[in-house]
Amino acid sequence: MAKKVVIIPCSGIGKPYGEIGRQAVYTITDDLRPEDVTTVCLAKLMIDDPETMALVKDNYVITVDGCGLACARKNVEAVGKQVDSEIKAIDTFKDHRDLKPEGVVDLGEPGFKLAKYLAERIDHEVDCVMKKEV
Ligand code: SF4
Repeated sequence: MAKKVVIIPCSGIGKPYGEIGRQAVYTITDDLRPEDVTTVCLAKLMIDDPETMALVKDNYVITVDGCGLACARKNVEAVGKQVDSEIKAIDTFKDHRDLKPEGVVDLGEPGFKLAKYLAERIDHEVDCVMKKEV
């Protein structure tokens, strides 16, 4: 059976770039390519949930972190899995400095635009990772 790509966002609640990362991941998993990708709750990985551990270990993994502290990537590595790709939401802002999220609870139009750009970036990265399959 073909591997899936597990996309794991950090849990940066209270930080706009953590929220942008999560919104972008949901766009990919729910709307753009649910047949190729899935996601897991980072907290379940941290408590060694067997189903989550198996999904992560048996499939490709892309982490989406809000900032350079890379909490999602570090937690994946902590269970012995090397990520296939890592993305930082804040890098999307560096490419679109005119777009500043308006808040954490409500990202506003600029924040949602950043999430859309980030989703496109993740979409491209999924293609790159899946090419390893052929
Ligand atoms: S990577 Fe940054 S935004 Fe995400 S949980 Fe860690 S500190 Fe928060």
